[in-house]
Order: sequence, then C-alpha cells, then structure tokens
Amino acid sequence: MLSRIKKHAGEISKLYLWLPELHRKIVLGLTLFCLLLLVLPTASSSNFQVLNMPKLDDPQYQPIAETVHETINLPDYEWIVANGDTLGELFSLFNLSSTMSKILEADKNVLTLDVINKGDKYLFWLSEIDDFSSEQVVLIKMEQVLGIEHQVAFVRKGEGFEYKETLLEGEWRQQRIIGEIKKNSSFYKSAVALGLPATDVAVIGRLLKSKINFSRSTAAGDKFQIVLSSQFIGDQPTGNTKIEGVRFFNRSNVYSAFSYKGNFFDSKGEGLERAFTRYPVKGKFRISSSFNPRRRHPITKLIRPHNGTDFAVPTGTPIYAPGDGRVKRVVRHKYAGLYIEIEHSYKYRSRFLHLSKSLVRKGQRIKRGQKIALSGNSGASTGAHLHYEFHVNKKAINAMGSKVPIAIGVDRKSMLAYKRRVSDLIELMESKDISSIKNTASHSG
Ligand SMILES: [Zn+2]
Repeated sequence: MLSRIKKHAGEISKLYLWLPELHRKIVLGLTLFCLLLLVLPTASSSNFQVLNMPKLDDPQYQPIAETVHETINLPDYEWIVANGDTLGELFSLFNLSSTMSKILEADKNVLTLDVINKGDKYLFWLSEIDDFSSEQVVLIKMEQVLGIEHQVAFVRKGEGFEYKETLLEGEWRQQRIIGEIKKNSSFYKSAVALGLPATDVAVIGRLLKSKINFSRSTAAGDKFQIVLSSQFIGDQPTGNTKIEGVRFFNRSNVYSAFSYKGNFFDSKGEGLERAFTRYPVKGKFRISSSFNPRRRHPITKLIRPHNGTDFAVPTGTPIYAPGDGRVKRVVRHKYAGLYIEIEHSYKYRSRFLHLSKSLVRKGQRIKRGQKIALSGNSGASTGAHLHYEFHVNKKAINAMGSKVPIAIGVDRKSMLAYKRRVSDLIELMESKDISSIKNTASHSG
C-alpha cells in the first residue's frame, strides 16, 4: 500500500522513524525518487513542494486552532484507494488506530467513510512527531475527496474531530438527446447509443412505467426527445447528470415527464412519483431529540450536528420505508450501529440508525410502506431509539419539516411557472437551431 501513498511534505527523515524497517526502505526509495523528480523540470515536480511545518516551540503554534490549517495548504500524504484497501489498514500503518476511532465518532453524523471506492482520494495533514520516544505523529486533518464537487474534511479540535462537508453546486449544462428506436433494438439501447447514461434511461423507465411498458409496447420508429443536464465545476464534468425533461412518441400517443424543483410531473402537472410518508414508524411515538444542525456535545463542546429525528421506540419496533427506492447501504458502524440508507431518487435519500435487524439487502428495490428493519440500540446509543434522517440533494434536512414532499403534484400557485418551464423544455426539444441550447447557471430542475 505504501507505494501508492504520495508524500508531499519535507521532514522526511523524522517522519519515517516510526515506520517498520521494511517500510522505511520503501520510503527511502520513494524519497530518492521524489528528489529526482524535484530536480527534473517537469510539471509533476510541483506536487512535491516542501512544507513549512509549524514548530512545536513556536508560541503561535496552536495545535487545535483553525489558523494552523490555513497555513498548511498542501497535504502531507495522499492515498488513492485500490481494490481491497481499508481505512483501518492505513491508520494502523501510521500507528493512528486510536485517532481513527475519534474520526469515526465525527463520521457518525455524516457517514461518508463507510463506502470506500477504488480510486477515491484521501488527503492527510500530519503534525511533526510530537515525541520521538513514542514515534507518534498527530493527525491534524483528513480530507475525503469524493469528487471535484464533493469533499469531507475531518479537522482536529482538541481531543476530537469535527467534520466539514463541501458540496459545490457548480453549473448544470443542458444537452438535447433526440432519436428513435432502431430496428431490432430497444429504447434502452437506442438512448444509450446516443450518449444517455444507463442510470438516466432507468429513471425514464421508472417515471413512465405506469403509462407505457418499454419492453412490450414500444416499436422500431418510436421517437424520443430528452433534455439532460450535466454538472460542471469550471470546465470539468463531475459525472453527475439528471433528466430535465423527456417526451416519448408511441403510435399517436405522447408520454412525457418534466422535472420541476427536483420532482417529476406529466404535462398536466400530475406527479409521476409517489409521495413520501412523514413517519417511518407506525403509531404514536415520542420524539426524543429533534433535528439540530448546530448541536454541540455537552462535554467536549465539539459541533455534533444532529442530522436526524430520534423516535423513542423500543427495540424491535418495525421500520417502514417512507418512499419507493433502492437500498444503497446496509452497514455496521462503530458509532451509528447497524444502519440502512435508501436512495429514493436523484434528490432524496433516507437513513435509519442504531437498528437491531435489517430486513433488506443492499441493491434491493423497495416500496413505500415496506417493512425494512427493526429498531434497536446498536452502536454508540444511550438507549433504544430510531435515528431517522432525510436528505435532499445530499444534505440532511428536518424530516419533520416542509421540505419532505408528502404530497406530489404541482400546487395551484406554481402552475403558471410550471407551464412556462414545460414550454421552454419543449421548445428546446423541438428547436432546429442547436446553438439555442443554453447553459443554466443555477439548476431550475
Ligand atoms: Zn439521533
């Protein structure tokens, strides 16, 4: 694994003291290689700038102060995940296993460290060895780079860590995809061949499934018009896409779906997705802790956002899916306990923590109202309860608030704006002039 860890900082001679013998040799070899790169006038040499590490005897050095992170810009290490890697391996290599536990404690409120994908990047900022005899380094900050638009930083604050999530909206650029089903082909194959991501074809299939059966009722010659948006940060695509509108022509019928404020409707403004239920438990239960993004831990004073709503339910209480969706995670976390995450659409997802039992498996499609789990007291929990989270565009919101779509259908006062959006999208689909496709600075979809 070491060969994949890039070291950016200076002070190499001190830092490698705490590594095992074999690793020291590898580090020494890597160091020589890096030095070689430094003297070569290539662009890659800029990756290996020497850092000005804060001195421990410097009165300005405050190990927990934000200013330290501002003066240290480049990370000391970069780790690119390969197949089979675990975060635990890396932390134990650095002799930082106890630190990992503190990071996981902060992760309980954001849960981004459970899904480690090949190619993901992790950046580490370490302080100098604070005590030579213990051969220890101190982790100042770890950043998880989930994409160019999404990073989560775990920053040391005293004895613990706080997390800071960065989600950039960037710019959504529209693109038109127009075609027809080819002979001996299907809508799926024909649309993918024109560049529509397979996940978006699946979204269209689900949105229109109550209107048309794509595997049986469609035929060669059926036409389709799609407006797709792709997310960009600067000129770099993030890989995130979403459907803005689709029209499918089958015989003399037109089936359509248009997104408006993140939800899909037909041409008349009728919802194409099912609404959510407010509560994931049945019967009357006390809410023991409400959503509070600014909560602090009473003793450590660390910011510990309460990104969910706690229901005081006894262990074994059935939990029901608040909407249709797909199970993204069934994970056991040191602090969150056994938990489930459901993806409902591009926009919505929900999480259920401290469970005693999951009744679903990863990847499974589920229906609103389906029993998915039994509540419990697993992980770091002070008593049996359900912690329920609802996320909109990857951000936790108050599941008891007004942003949860418990009724789907364009409301009367938005109907005019919706009709205007539909006619804009249709104009784009029908336009002869491809240059009329405009980029949206903010996503209206
Ligand atoms: Zn909670």
